[in-house]
Amino acid sequence: MAEQEKTSSAKQADIEHIRLAVRQLCAKYGEDYWLNMDRNSDYPSDFVAELTASGFLGVLIPEEYGGSGLGIAEASVVMEEICRSGAHAGVCHAQMYVMGSVLRHGSVEQKQFYLPKIAKGELRLQSFGVTEPTTGSDTTSLKTTARRVGDKYVINGQKVWISRIEHSDLMVLLARTTDRDKVEKKTQGLSTFLLDVKTAKNNGLDIRPIESMINHHSCELFFDDLEVPVDSLLGEEGRGFQVILDGMNAERILIGAECVGDGRYFIDKASAYASQREVFNRPIGANQGVQFPIARAYTQVEAAGLMVDKAAQMFDQGLPCGAEANMAKMLGSEASWAAGDVCMQTHGGFAFAKEYHIERKFRETRLYQIAPISTNLILSYVAEHVLDMPRSY
Ligand SMILES: Cc1cc2nc3c(=O)[nH]c(=O)nc-3n(C[C@H](O)[C@H](O)[C@H](O)COP(=O)(O)OP(=O)(O)OC[C@H]3O[C@@H](n4cnc5c(N)ncnc54)[C@H](O)[C@@H]3O)c2cc1C
Repeated sequence: MAEQEKTSSAKQADIEHIRLAVRQLCAKYGEDYWLNMDRNSDYPSDFVAELTASGFLGVLIPEEYGGSGLGIAEASVVMEEICRSGAHAGVCHAQMYVMGSVLRHGSVEQKQFYLPKIAKGELRLQSFGVTEPTTGSDTTSLKTTARRVGDKYVINGQKVWISRIEHSDLMVLLARTTDRDKVEKKTQGLSTFLLDVKTAKNNGLDIRPIESMINHHSCELFFDDLEVPVDSLLGEEGRGFQVILDGMNAERILIGAECVGDGRYFIDKASAYASQREVFNRPIGANQGVQFPIARAYTQVEAAGLMVDKAAQMFDQGLPCGAEANMAKMLGSEASWAAGDVCMQTHGGFAFAKEYHIERKFRETRLYQIAPISTNLILSYVAEHVLDMPRSY
């Protein structure tokens, strides 16, 4: 027991060390840097390069492949601190969880070839292609196909909202390799591919950026007889849904952590402004009508943080944590949105001025009630898998 306590306090010290180091790195990229990225729809290549060079983006990559070999608890703190600094972790978060698909399901050759390059920053794996315009949340009904022809697969179909593909060398793509009516379960017959984006672009893959509410670099993709070598297959043919599913817990926990970071950002801003802004000859924060909503939002964010910590701990211990990961993501996204709303209200009209940065973060954090999975689908997971209620879809 004493040994266990020592190990856990050492882990906690490491986490706090990482937190401080990420905070220092982010401080070099002030909020105006992110404002300009947003204004010009730019990609923060120098920030991502520094995050990679410092080893923070590779915390989950095992040491044998050049990463730090740490757990989701450490990775969560990296994401949380990026968001808390006023930055947008959506520019780089996918590499953390998409990399897991290669690590868990890649062949020895794929792992040895790609992972060290990803850890060094020579290759970016920032993109994953799952969502389609006509099927949305109903992933297993997707229509993109990959047909085996000799030593190649030929891919046809369409994807939507595929983020960062223009800033990524690699993409994990989900496509159907066996028709839906030829498999017993709808989760069968899907396969994942590790695609070389640069080679595919304009050789059967057409990429069209979507103008959107946040600077997330999301695109529509059109596949027209795109040929990829058979060794692009990631994992077993027909078991691609499992590959995607296996990465979902990590994804949910990391997004939950980002939301906690956003929430803490909003609370820091709101409480500071409420204490300093004077109207009617006293700080607005002296009014309970102003301070209570901030205190309430703080309470919600801290509660979400506990669920993120719990899910991360279970994940790192190898325990099943689907429910906790989903709940962490849902509670985080709702808490950060509540904190953002309070922060807007506290700042009054100034909240709308871009130079205050709040409206940008407010837009960014709204995404997480919709992507990568919407709140309703999380609720239906909890209802069905935790509460044993009937399946709703
Ligand atoms: C900025 C951005 C970036 C994204 N990046 C990526 C990416 O990189 N890769 C990728 O693959 N995808 C990406 N997505 C897509 C994202 O994962 C989907 O938008 C999300 O999963 C929801 O799918 P949908 O938009 O088709 O909504 P729909 O599935 O059409 O759902 C619309 C609404 O209906 C609700 N709903 C649907 N079915 C049910 C039901 N049975 N019961 C109750 N409610 C239901 C949903 O909860 C939702 O609120 C991104 C999206 C955005 C906006």
